[in-house]
Amino acid sequence: MKNKHIFGPVPSRRLGYSLGIDLVKRKYCSYDCIYCEVGKTTNKIIDRIDFGNDKIIVEELKTFLNDYTGRIDCITFTGSGEPTLNVKMGSILNEVKKITKLPVTLLTNGSLFFREDIRNESINFDIVIPSLDSVIEETFMRVNKPHRDLNLSEIIKGLIKFSNDYKGKIYLEILLVKGFNDSDGDLLNLRKIVEKMRVDKIQINTVVRPPAYKEAKPIDENDKQRIKNILGDLVELDLVFSQNNIVQSNSGKKEVTELLKRRPCTFEQISISLGIDGEKLKIILDELQKEMKDKLKVDKFDGEFYYKVVGNE
Ligand code: SF4
Repeated sequence: MKNKHIFGPVPSRRLGYSLGIDLVKRKYCSYDCIYCEVGKTTNKIIDRIDFGNDKIIVEELKTFLNDYTGRIDCITFTGSGEPTLNVKMGSILNEVKKITKLPVTLLTNGSLFFREDIRNESINFDIVIPSLDSVIEETFMRVNKPHRDLNLSEIIKGLIKFSNDYKGKIYLEILLVKGFNDSDGDLLNLRKIVEKMRVDKIQINTVVRPPAYKEAKPIDENDKQRIKNILGDLVELDLVFSQNNIVQSNSGKKEVTELLKRRPCTFEQISISLGIDGEKLKIILDELQKEMKDKLKVDKFDGEFYYKVVGNE
């Protein structure tokens, strides 16, 4: 069976070897973030829907776990959009928990935690990684371009409530975009909200892959100390502007193709994400370029070259 919803495992600093499950179709989301690496949101919704993929996901996972002999440290619910929009998220999680003892992580934009059903389902994950990029209305609108019926103060209340009810690990992700949500004022206001949440760690990210909207630019190394000064004493602060530490793996052409179908990556990002050394990766990309021709594209962003796979190979 060809896996349509399972990808990886991808080595990650936070989660170890993480096997991803794509819960929603491209691109269903409650936001249309300017920095989104999946692309512009084509279906901006806040009502949960049945994507009709719950049984397929569980079958794909069972088959994958039966056949795969490599290392997996956790399963991550994510998607080419917002995973909590899948109305079957809770039942898929229950089924996943029946077939594996691996910890299960939820990566979410957190916009729907004002809903009791989503809070109740999310409580059963072992790790939850919600994001919150700004608590100032105008900035929030510019950075996250939310669905028109979303209300920032309700979103914040939902996040605060969830974080205090939940007993698992929470890593709050804040993505900073140069000139949009990176001012001292933005960060000080965020700080006031984070103080009301129960968070194990804050992870600061920036734009590292070609964004959905070209005005989204990364903050730089010089901003790190300023951010540490404002948020650093609250909880553990992880400033991940680029990935590091290549962990060697047996990944090959198939894994590189799957990764590049999901998100554009530089040579270095492919190497780090999949644990392939530079020499081997060069051979793989050369071969893929010959086999896939114009389906393997290279775009330039912020002085870097990004590979991506378009269409069905
Ligand atoms: S970054 Fe996440 S929340 Fe933002 S538009 Fe993309 S998928 Fe949605």
